[in-house]
Amino acid sequence: MTSLDDLPIRDDLRGLSPYGAPQIDVPVRLNTNENPYAPSPELADDLAREMHREALGLNRYPDRDALALRADLAAYLGHGLSAERVWAANGSNEVIQQILQAFGGPGRSALGFEPSYSMHPILTRGTATEWISGAREDDFGIDPGKAVAAIEEHRPDVVFLTSPNNPTGTALPPALIERVVAAAPGMVVVDEAYFEFARAGTPSALTLLPAHPRLIVTRTMSKAFAMAGTRVGYLAAHPAVIEALLLVRLPYHLSSLTQAAARVAIAHRSELLATVDELRAERDATVEWLRARGLRAADSDANFVLFGRFPDRRAVWEALLARGVLVREVGPPEWLRVSIGTSEEMAAFRAAMEGVA
Ligand SMILES: *Cc1c(COP(=O)(O)O)cnc(C)c1O
Repeated sequence: MTSLDDLPIRDDLRGLSPYGAPQIDVPVRLNTNENPYAPSPELADDLAREMHREALGLNRYPDRDALALRADLAAYLGHGLSAERVWAANGSNEVIQQILQAFGGPGRSALGFEPSYSMHPILTRGTATEWISGAREDDFGIDPGKAVAAIEEHRPDVVFLTSPNNPTGTALPPALIERVVAAAPGMVVVDEAYFEFARAGTPSALTLLPAHPRLIVTRTMSKAFAMAGTRVGYLAAHPAVIEALLLVRLPYHLSSLTQAAARVAIAHRSELLATVDELRAERDATVEWLRARGLRAADSDANFVLFGRFPDRRAVWEALLARGVLVREVGPPEWLRVSIGTSEEMAAFRAAMEGVA
């Protein structure tokens, strides 16, 4: 029998673990930060009509540069952006991989501040880029002085800042991002996958783009936009950054069906984003409820809450699962993360918690 160890796999991949949020079929799934509200039947009808139209042209390759979609995304983002400053791919994960292919690679390094999104180091290593782990403070924020010191020590080619951060929910102040951009010798990626959930008044790093050509802001349609199954992520940056990505992207990487589906979703954005306020309110109520039970809950600007602390978090995760509620065992030891679901799902989460911790 052949095992992975017997194959001539790259030495730097030996012993690594793949990304692995469990996909378990349980009644209440609160573990991958999806929007719990499915698109409406009307949106599905529009989508089906567009898919039919696209299907009649599937003998042809799609628009390689996805210009219509990028124009729609730019209009959604605002901030004076246009298609030439926006790029899209199959999830922001592919966007980030392309960034690392263009700006990382063998002999180069990327720095992130952990705990943070587990795909940043996985994509970094996958592109044969060295991963450097910087630290966050006890409140999960980033200390500007320490961040600058880490950058000066390691001179990373890429710096990741996740804001709001996954799995902690922490948003970063623009002043911190500016300090990092000023200190970084290379590219700075601000991953704003959860930006739409941030509390009112939280500025986007998009405001910093005009002054900083080495800054990249990534977003996704997987979370607030309720389109995780479509696989569309995007970024905003200087047009020269997008020229760099054109060198590494696969030709025709975004299928015509994906491009069309994303455009339908953007056209329906007021429906899709209408649930964001409700999810924010549910999040704030969840934080309060957990704290009222004497537990810790991190301040969150996202659609999830990191809570603890449990000396045996695995036991708590399993006990919740036994009650039909799937949360995520992720982040610092003794903490768990719960994604914000519908009010019924959150009631089920609270009821399960009553019996557990
Ligand atoms: C969920 C998530 C993404 C989204 O990935 P997609 O590939 O767009 O689905 C990106 N960054 C962070 C921090 C996330 O948590």
